Amino acid sequence: MRPDFEVADIFHRHGEAYRQANAGHLDRCQLRVMAAIEACRTAALGAHVARCRECGHSEIAYCSCRDRHCPKCQGTAARAWLEVRQADLLEVELCSVAIYVLFNDGVRRWRPSRLVGRAHKRSLQ
Ligand SMILES: [Zn+2]
Repeated sequence: MRPDFEVADIFHRHGEAYRQANAGHLDRCQLRVMAAIEACRTAALGAHVARCRECGHSEIAYCSCRDRHCPKCQGTAARAWLEVRQADLLEVELCSVAIYVLFNDGVRRWRPSRLVGRAHKRSLQ
């Protein structure tokens, strides 16, 4: 199912203005990624036609950019990766052992998210 807005939609609508406003601050890689996302699954990258032999119905499938930053191209891979990671999770409520260690080591000074903070407080009760 297609979401209401995709990154490509935003780039199509505002990409050129963004590039002009940030000229000199975007490196080649960033510009290349923007271009890839804008072109992904459009006629710019070509297409192939799938046709049913029974009824003759045909559909055009536009080619993907396959850029690793493209949310369309990597969305399926990201979901598959997430499913595998979720299978590795323990079936417990939020675990706070690692969080407790980070709070008390005196060396690391990172600010945990609210969720992590709440989990930490609960673990001390
Ligand atoms: Zn893509």
